[in-house]
Amino acid sequence: MQTENPASPPVRRSFFDTKIEFLKGVGPQRADLFNTELRIFTYGDLIQYYPFRHEDRTKFYTIREMFEGMPYVQIRGKLDYIEEAGEGHKRRLIGYFIDSTGEIELLWFQGIQWQAKNLKVKQEYVVFGKPQYFNGKYSIVHPEMELYDPKTPLPTGGLQPVYNLTEKLRKKFVTSKQIGQMVRQVLDQVSPHLRETLPQDIIRRRDLISKAEAMESIHFPKTVHALEQAKNRLKFEELFYIQLRLLKQKLVRKVEYPGQVFKNTPDADTLLNVFYRQHLPFELTDAQKRVIREIYRDMSSGKQMNRLLQGDVGSGKTIVAFICMLMAIDNGAQACMMAPTEILADQHYNGLKQFADMLGVRIGCLTGSTRAALRRDIHQQLQLGMMKILVGTHALLEDVVQFKNLGLAVIDEQHRFGVAQRARLWQKNDHAPPHVLVMTATPIPRTLAMTLYGDLDVSVIDELPAGRKPIKTVHRYDAHRLRVFGFIREQLQQGRQAYIVYPLIEESEKMSYKNLMDGYESVARAFPECHISIVHGQMSAGDKDFEMQRFLSRETHIMVATTVIEVGVNVPNASVMVVESAEKFGLAQLHQLRGRVGRGADQSYCILMTDYKLSKEARTRIETMVRTTDGFEISEVDLQLRGPGDLSGTQQSGVLDLLIADLAKDQYILQEARDAATQLLEADPDLTSYENQPIRRHIESLRKEETNWSRIS
Ligand code: ADP
Ligand code: MG
Repeated sequence: MQTENPASPPVRRSFFDTKIEFLKGVGPQRADLFNTELRIFTYGDLIQYYPFRHEDRTKFYTIREMFEGMPYVQIRGKLDYIEEAGEGHKRRLIGYFIDSTGEIELLWFQGIQWQAKNLKVKQEYVVFGKPQYFNGKYSIVHPEMELYDPKTPLPTGGLQPVYNLTEKLRKKFVTSKQIGQMVRQVLDQVSPHLRETLPQDIIRRRDLISKAEAMESIHFPKTVHALEQAKNRLKFEELFYIQLRLLKQKLVRKVEYPGQVFKNTPDADTLLNVFYRQHLPFELTDAQKRVIREIYRDMSSGKQMNRLLQGDVGSGKTIVAFICMLMAIDNGAQACMMAPTEILADQHYNGLKQFADMLGVRIGCLTGSTRAALRRDIHQQLQLGMMKILVGTHALLEDVVQFKNLGLAVIDEQHRFGVAQRARLWQKNDHAPPHVLVMTATPIPRTLAMTLYGDLDVSVIDELPAGRKPIKTVHRYDAHRLRVFGFIREQLQQGRQAYIVYPLIEESEKMSYKNLMDGYESVARAFPECHISIVHGQMSAGDKDFEMQRFLSRETHIMVATTVIEVGVNVPNASVMVVESAEKFGLAQLHQLRGRVGRGADQSYCILMTDYKLSKEARTRIETMVRTTDGFEISEVDLQLRGPGDLSGTQQSGVLDLLIADLAKDQYILQEARDAATQLLEADPDLTSYENQPIRRHIESLRKEETNWSRIS
């Protein structure tokens, strides 16, 4: 390691911070390449660059033993002769390779001259690569070749790591083997520095291998079993520290942020009791009642509430939110509700206003298109505390929006808002942050919820209001559109309304628009007697709203739209949802769209139109939609199909940059990690025990990399 300039204070630098350029055979230029291509800067980065698979280099196959679909093969034999063939981009060098059982072809399409010059015909080689079966014989494209030398010992035991490389690294002749050698160098020096990162108690109880053993085996396992143990240990550790951080944040917040204390009095004249006894339009479901109790308990606890309310579309979250707002208002505070789009904000406003008007509670709506005069008026009424409920888009995050005393902030459709925006809401109040209720209609698989919202408490409405008929979902091919239109006509004749949704075409807004307009024209031709609304992303908010209102008031019968209607819009009389090119939609979107119907008492239908040609994944998505209406089941399938990185809302959350664990596959380990973290914090919330020192130390080193830990400990 380097010596410090004697004048400067000594910097305690860990072995793991050593730059990789100090490794044998690396140097500054190579190091640069690793920095930019793989973001590997230090020894620590390097040994955490885990191989994506392993190969067994102890096993030799004969040519006769090869079979179709084997991932790779290692054979020993003789390069019989070579020849060039083909022209242009088909030009190739063919090496005929034989052992005592048969012959295969080795193929090179690049570096032909260099290979032809350097290959030694009639010599014995060890050849390694992925065999392909074509025209009755096997071949290997661009094999790894090594002259067989009986004096060099063959690798004894163990699996060889294979590391991901980029195109650029390959061009600079960096191989997986070289990375392996670099890792080997570091691991050989590392043992005195590699400290255990989990407490012995957890290691013992979960039957985990040690950190040192795991780091060795994740790169150079002796057996398949050792590799599995290493993966298991490292996945557990990774998930454990994420859960520990989230749970600790939750704990810290509960200690640091006192909540406003809202009491539920039995007085008959509280808004809450008046509403409950005189104005409740329907009996609440048991799930709604349970969730309201959970929220009340939080809001009266003296700690700030941070609760996620999950409930499928149509499960009745709005009224739950309203009832909770009343509790805040009864206690002299104000409430707000933030929605991701203007359409939604307006709809929430209109829905809540009906209730608020019954009680004489003043409510306002603030969006980007609120006129200046009204805006000023709202600002003033809020500051004076006259306006009790404010609904809006993120316009209500602006600094000019000041409450007299904001007691409850409800955020609808959380996945569109970032964690930072959540935090900005907290700052709306000087003396105590408002209670925060995050509502989402996008069911999230448990594992993901645990990770994305692991710092929140969770309530689930797992029951739809009684009397709802499950939506019937069918899959129809484009060729049957006329019959589908016939079905829509029947529904319209019964006084119902229908949605027809077209996909957004990602590459081109223009194409999306054309697609939609073509669709609109064919719908208009097919239904000359009907009034048709159209809503798309390029319309102004006012125009969109105008069309939505026309549809809602039944002036129009068919709504042709792109996915702008996806979220939250509520038109109970609509009974048909037709999704055009349904194969272009993700599962979450399809589920959201379907949730737009089935909101009244009538039987509703969802018709998924597709082309005959469907990819395997698209078929799974469509089949899942036809099979079930359970949002949680659908979200699980979505997670399996797409992996966590692509689910909505996950990108903004850094927690998903996992090194080794996989939220789609490692649900069991995640649950164990969360349990372990919970138990640990219950027993030792400040991590002060001797036993838990490895954790403190590890957090210390993690903190250097990330700032997220800095609020803790
Ligand atoms: P979401 O959870 O999707 O936001 P909403 O709150 O919009 O659902 O409710 C959907 C519809 O169901 C609304 O029309 C609402 O008035 C109605 N609703 C909510 N709760 C009940 C209930 N317990 N019984 C009957 N209808 C209900
Ligand atoms: Mg809603």
